Amino acid sequence: MGEIELPEALVKALREVRSVGVITGAGISAESGIPTYRGRGGIYDDPDEGDRTVEALSAHTLESDPDRTWRALFQIAGAAANARPNAGHLAITAIERKAARFVLLTQNVDGLHRLAGTQNIIDIHGDAFHVICTACGNRNQFNDPRTGGITSLCLNMHECMAANVAPRCPCGGVYRPDVVLFGEMLPEDKLARLYAELLDNPPDLVISVGTSAMFPYIVQPVLVAAAAGKLTIEINPEATEISDFVAFHLRTNAGEALPMIAAAMAGTEEGKG
Ligand code: NAD
Ligand code: ZN
Repeated sequence: MGEIELPEALVKALREVRSVGVITGAGISAESGIPTYRGRGGIYDDPDEGDRTVEALSAHTLESDPDRTWRALFQIAGAAANARPNAGHLAITAIERKAARFVLLTQNVDGLHRLAGTQNIIDIHGDAFHVICTACGNRNQFNDPRTGGITSLCLNMHECMAANVAPRCPCGGVYRPDVVLFGEMLPEDKLARLYAELLDNPPDLVISVGTSAMFPYIVQPVLVAAAAGKLTIEINPEATEISDFVAFHLRTNAGEALPMIAAAMAGTEEGKG
C-alpha cells in the first residue's frame, strides 16, 4: 500500500473535531488475520463459497441444521480467537480518548474493538463469543483465550470446534450465537442507540473504515453527517457505495490511516474530562 500523507485540508479540519463517530467492517480486522467477506482476499472472491456461507449463516439454516450454522460460525470465531487488535483498532481507542463525545458502530463480531479498549461500542451484529439458548434463553459465552478469561462456567471453544456441532445448554437446548444472522432483524436497543448517537445529532467527524457499506444502516450515518456539513472520511483500499459522498476517501489500510488521524486530532488524553 505504501506511505500516505493526509491532505493538509484534512489535517486542519481534524484539529477542530470534538465529537466522533466511527463505523467499522471486516476490513479493519483484515490486518489482524481475519478474512473479510467481500473485497480483496474476501471469501466472496469465490462466489460459491460466499453463497454457501450466507446460506449457512441464515436464520432458516439455524432452525433446520444448526450444526451447519455453527460450522460457519466456528470459522469466524476460531480465526478471531487467535487474533490480536492491530494498529487500526488501537488508534480508534486513542481517538475515543481525545474526543468529547465518541461512538463506534461495528459490524464485526470478533470482539477485537473490545480487546483494544474502546468503550462506547454498538456491536450491531453481535459478538461471536456470546451464545443464547434457543430453548430456555440462558446466556453463556466461550472462554476467550485472548483475555485469559477461562472459567469452568464458560463453553470451551476448542472442544466445541473439535466436536464441530452446535453447542448445547445444560437444559438440552441448542445454543445459538448472539449474532444477527442473514434474514434476522437488528436488535432494537442497539438500533435506538444508533439513531440517538449518530443520526439525531451527527458528530463533527464520521469515519467509515473497512466496510463494503452494503447495508442502509451503515451508509445512513455517513450520508446524514455529510448532508449536515460534518467532516466525513472513508478508509478503504477499494471504492464503495459511499466513496462519492465522503469529503475524503483514503485509499489505504486501516492500520496505516487511523493512527495518522488519531495523531492529527487535537485534544489530550484527559479529553473526556
Ligand atoms: P466486507 O467483507 O463486506 O468488506 C470488507 C471491506 O474492507 C472491503 O470493502 C475491503 O475493500 C475493505 N478492506 C480490506 N482490507 C482492508 C484494510 N486493511 N483496511 C481497510 N479496509 C480494508 O465487510 P463488511 O462490510 O463488514 O460486511 C461483512 C459482514 O460479515 C458483516 O456483517 C460482519 O458482521 C460479518 N463479518 C465479520 C467479520 C469479523 O468480525 N471480523 C469478518 C467477516 C465477516
Ligand atoms: Zn437452555
